[in-house]
Amino acid sequence: MERERVAGLLEGWGQPAFRLTQIVQAQAAGAATWDDVTTLPRTLRARLSEHGPLWSVRPESASTSRDGTVKWRLALGDGRVVEAVLIAHAQGRRTVCVSSQAGCALGCRFCATGAMGAGRDLTRGEILEQAMLARAEAERQGARLSNVVFMGMGEPMQNLDAVLAACDDMNRPDGLGISARAIAISTAGWVPGIARLAEHPLPVRLALSLHAADDETRGRLMPINARYPIANVLAACRRYCDRTGRRVFIEYLLLDGVNDTPADARRLAGLLRDGRFHVNLIEYNPTASGYTASPPERRRAFTEALARAGIEASLRRSRGADVDAACGQLAARA
Ligand code: SAH
Ligand code: SF4
Repeated sequence: MERERVAGLLEGWGQPAFRLTQIVQAQAAGAATWDDVTTLPRTLRARLSEHGPLWSVRPESASTSRDGTVKWRLALGDGRVVEAVLIAHAQGRRTVCVSSQAGCALGCRFCATGAMGAGRDLTRGEILEQAMLARAEAERQGARLSNVVFMGMGEPMQNLDAVLAACDDMNRPDGLGISARAIAISTAGWVPGIARLAEHPLPVRLALSLHAADDETRGRLMPINARYPIANVLAACRRYCDRTGRRVFIEYLLLDGVNDTPADARRLAGLLRDGRFHVNLIEYNPTASGYTASPPERRRAFTEALARAGIEASLRRSRGADVDAACGQLAARA
């Protein structure tokens, strides 16, 4: 249940302010239902439960990959299912990858969520709770939840009110206390959303899923390119850079025989020459799409061609593929 709602109920019943703190602490300690919040009087627990469940997402299952990545299948109140993933890094840091929608209307051809079709927007609470679950798990592992990426299911820019409200909750000191600069919102290129994010006071990061350096290729992969072609999307990203002073991450999936030649790399470098971008090359994870990942030698040649053209890129290694927790595989079997 959302914090403001709980606070409003408690206040209406003349309860002291520390009750809210007790609830938040119990949730962080693993309370799953109102009955588990044993610091509250029994009558108050019963009263609260009449107004809705403590959590709006319920973990149906958790699978742990060989590399330590943890994936949750989360049931929402209406029976829909989304997924969230906790990714381990060195030095005791953890990143959670959260979903913003159950399904996605944008239908990118390579993406398992896209194949599900449009679902519904998640609420602010449903998004925040994914990070809360992840933080509790990170703490059980003796680590710290330091980063959040909106790279799970859905297009965050099409649900931006709830996404930004959840970001505020994640960021505030009495929320999860995660630095805004450690939160990244990834978009397939929804230009109005990019424009709104540029004006938003919270300094969260922007990542653009570009995946091709020419409109023809991108249009085949991502139907949204018909509406917002590469030039428009990159112009919106540049305005975001100018307004915020922050670089934009460019996500580029390497797809075998589709977008992975040295000529593609040079074209990409040509688009990004002004230094306002950082390129992340992503390994493709198999789904039912028919696309496959570029082989290692082509990946290497692509990275080298980019570097020669003056663009340094990071190669993002895949994690969690053995539990279908890797990018684009979420809810593949939901
Ligand atoms: N809708 C947003 C955010 C969610 S998708 C977006 O598209 O950016 C997060 C990232 O996963 C995107 O960069 C997307 O292109 C990538 N992705 C989708 N399917 C993938 C797959 N099978 N393997 C690797 N990355 C994939
Ligand atoms: Fe939606 Fe992103 Fe998947 Fe495209 S890649 S279908 S925008 S979730």
